[in-house]
Amino acid sequence: MSPQLRDPAPAAVTVTSTVPAAPVAPVAATAAAAAELHDLVIDWFGANARDLPWRRPDAGPWSVMVSEFMLQQTPVSRVLPVHAQWLERWPRPADLAVESPGEAVRAWGRLGYPRRALRLHAAATAIAQRHGGEVPREHADLLALPGVGEYTAAAVASFAYGRRHVVLDTNVRRVFARAVTGVEYPPGATTAAERRTAAALLPADEATAARWAAATMELGALVCTARSPKCGACPVAARCAWRLAGSPPHAGPPRRTQSYAGTDRQVRGRLLAALRASPGPVPQSTLDALWSDPVQRARALDGLVADGLVEPLANGVYRLPG
Ligand code: SF4
Repeated sequence: MSPQLRDPAPAAVTVTSTVPAAPVAPVAATAAAAAELHDLVIDWFGANARDLPWRRPDAGPWSVMVSEFMLQQTPVSRVLPVHAQWLERWPRPADLAVESPGEAVRAWGRLGYPRRALRLHAAATAIAQRHGGEVPREHADLLALPGVGEYTAAAVASFAYGRRHVVLDTNVRRVFARAVTGVEYPPGATTAAERRTAAALLPADEATAARWAAATMELGALVCTARSPKCGACPVAARCAWRLAGSPPHAGPPRRTQSYAGTDRQVRGRLLAALRASPGPVPQSTLDALWSDPVQRARALDGLVADGLVEPLANGVYRLPG
């Protein structure tokens, strides 16, 4: 378990932003303010949380784990149907583990970033081999699974088992950046300062901490959104440091916007879609017809092979990994 996750909480949080004097104290300036923040956000979550399959009482840890892999870079609306198909076909990790990695890639559909399918398959295999087919409860055991990083280990331990962990995804980081630090956007990559803030804000009680993790994530997803935060509907609006500072515009480096059309990602997506749609190997000539630029096409295909998503066979044919 990561040491910072055991930090005492909630004590005073050091806020380094330029938040002006305001009639209402910014959130989390004191332990009492942090406790009030917990109540506000958790009560809001109780009234507004979306009914998602992986949050239902009958959703097991495997459902939570699959959702966490899928949601990392894909919106909920696109994840929902694939998650349902996945759980129906592979209701337990062991069911997926006996399939080929290629079947996981095929079932991933158009969720994007398909290496996640390979990682989930590898994690399922390790769960079947090392943990008797049960998704482990302990953060350290989760973190030791292939393809599981700090975020996913914390999220699964928290959401599936109600454990006390800092769960810092993009949505949570944005909420803390605004409500606590007083800036519009968090840094490009998670910093130690963000982790300290999140650890200091983590409720001491395990069940409350797990609820807090889910609630802050939902607040970022539904209300404190990246481009148009709905401050009028926000439970912490009266104490939000960024709002109290007059909502100053982002002062950091320009934020990256991801393009897709014409990129190698688009070419890879087309090639992989053809392989997913075919029950058997696909000849090079079929792939060649999918993208006109031969250099970009070859680069994309080489990348798919290098990533283990496509397997070259003899005589210039390709298939999903066996
Ligand atoms: S008041 Fe607005 S900016 Fe502040 S946390 Fe709420 S939605 Fe985000």
